[in-house]
Amino acid sequence: MQFNQSLKNYNTFGIDVSATQFIEISTVHQLKDVIKENNQKLPLFILSGGSNMLLTKNVDALVLHINTKGIHVVDENEDFVWMEAQAGETWHDFVLYTITQNLGGLENLSLIPGKVGSSPIQNIGAYGVEIKDTMHSLTALNLETLEVETFHNADCKFGYRESVFKHQLKDKYIITAVTFKLKKAPHLLHTSYGAIQQELETMHVEQPTIKDVSNAVIAIRQSKLPDPKEIGNSGSFFKNPVIDKTLYQSLLEKNPDIPHYPVNESEVKIPAGWLIEHAGLKGFRKGDAGVHTKQALVLVNYGNASGKELIDMAYFVQQTVFEKFEISILPEVNII
Ligand SMILES: Cc1cc2nc3c(=O)[nH]c(=O)nc-3n(C[C@H](O)[C@H](O)[C@H](O)COP(=O)(O)OP(=O)(O)OC[C@H]3O[C@@H](n4cnc5c(N)ncnc54)[C@H](O)[C@@H]3O)c2cc1C
Repeated sequence: MQFNQSLKNYNTFGIDVSATQFIEISTVHQLKDVIKENNQKLPLFILSGGSNMLLTKNVDALVLHINTKGIHVVDENEDFVWMEAQAGETWHDFVLYTITQNLGGLENLSLIPGKVGSSPIQNIGAYGVEIKDTMHSLTALNLETLEVETFHNADCKFGYRESVFKHQLKDKYIITAVTFKLKKAPHLLHTSYGAIQQELETMHVEQPTIKDVSNAVIAIRQSKLPDPKEIGNSGSFFKNPVIDKTLYQSLLEKNPDIPHYPVNESEVKIPAGWLIEHAGLKGFRKGDAGVHTKQALVLVNYGNASGKELIDMAYFVQQTVFEKFEISILPEVNII
């Protein structure tokens, strides 16, 4: 157990705040013991990869840094393998492992930072795939009873960057392991989204494998997104807003090139990055807090920005977008 531990190296924004108490968790048994011993003296704060949080103040809590490891096959049949990974496994390493086993389903989600245990919290997604498409079930520790419970896919109430763990069950459970239902060959590839097809052509790949798709996704992400090891960031800071078609029609008159994706009969989704860029904020910088120069959806810490400076930047972006388009954009990142 550490006291007044700096969290600078534990969050991808690189914000230097401290945790009152900090402990690394390597087994579920230890997790239960630590929680019992704490006996509600300090609130609990779950920290995995720290890649989806903006820390705006010191964390006056017992920080549980989840680092449990292990991957194993739970079941298999002719077509599928059910594979369980412990919460502390690094997401991208797990994806690469499934690919070495020639199991399909996670390749489009290559290179997303963070740990396996946090992947269901916001139903991580990229390039037309979300974990809800392959997640079979998860186990989670009930913080009231200290019993481990199982949640099946439908119990998680997944939506776009949403799950029950961000709402009704927020702060009530710690996810301990996640099981995915992965496809044996022949695989069903998702290559129509974004620039995957184009990237495969550049790579001179005609009959892609899951490894090729993963490589294409990695190449695209590396060319577009800032690496947190070089510039602090938390990926997409805002969610893409869903707006009424009537508002979209009126915006279209003034902005004929506004992109949109149909959601249902009455609503469309607008890329928040486009809105921020067309509000003139791409590359905008104040002190060490800024909007990334290549990807307007990403807020960045150029060095020593504080959480407060980054949150001020986020408010400024929200306000400017609203003034120009009358659309509210909401953070995807957890603000603490
Ligand atoms: C460069 C970059 C690119 C990104 N690209 C994408 C992308 O393409 N798609 C996407 O969806 N996301 C993306 N993200 C966001 C982020 O990687 C994901 O949200 C990831 O799942 C966060 O995992 P983490 O382990 O870092 O979670 P953390 O940031 O540690 O935690 C996130 C939240 O979950 C809670 N939590 C963490 N672990 C547990 C647990 N075991 N049980 C219960 N609660 C827990 C925390 O308390 C916190 O509220 C990106 C981030 C970066 C920095």
